[in-house]
Amino acid sequence: MVIGILAVQGAFIEHEEIFKKLGADTIQLRQKNDLDRHFDRLVLPGGESTVQGKLLKDLGMFNILKEKIENGMPVLGTCAGLILLAKSISNDTRAYFQTLPVTVKRNAYGRQLGSFHCDGEIKGLGTFPMEFIRAPYIENVASGVEVLAENNGKITAARYKNQLGLSFHPELCNDYRLHKMFMEM
Ligand code: GLN
Repeated sequence: MVIGILAVQGAFIEHEEIFKKLGADTIQLRQKNDLDRHFDRLVLPGGESTVQGKLLKDLGMFNILKEKIENGMPVLGTCAGLILLAKSISNDTRAYFQTLPVTVKRNAYGRQLGSFHCDGEIKGLGTFPMEFIRAPYIENVASGVEVLAENNGKITAARYKNQLGLSFHPELCNDYRLHKMFMEM
């Protein structure tokens, strides 16, 4: 299995290390040519969605990746990656791939108290460590979207067909169950 990890900005190394430990091959997607290589899964890491979105367009990668997602390639979006997947952003006029029918709120926990750690419950996995860094949460989901986690009434993990979107950063914790779940999708 080859996992293509978007590597234009943000926390991509951490995902790469975990997938390697789990026995997958990984490639970094840094420029348009990289998209010609074979990969069967896509990871959109945390970072800054505005920067990533702009780079994807400037580098000519945006439409190719959108098409791959629409054609069913399994995709994991963490934090900024979730924002890139979302159909709409309630506090921003921008939107990116729009393949995941949810509305997210950016920097939803405020800027000062924006980063924190807690344990949450993930459907099918149980208690899971969650690292939030200036994170979005999901304000609402269309029918067909499976809510996998809620913290204090806010949705923080959801799955829809081939897409898994997380508010938090499992790649910063020593718990690889979500990465495994994604490899099995
Ligand atoms: N606040 C960032 C954004 O809006 C996301 C933060 C993250 O990925 N850790 O894109």
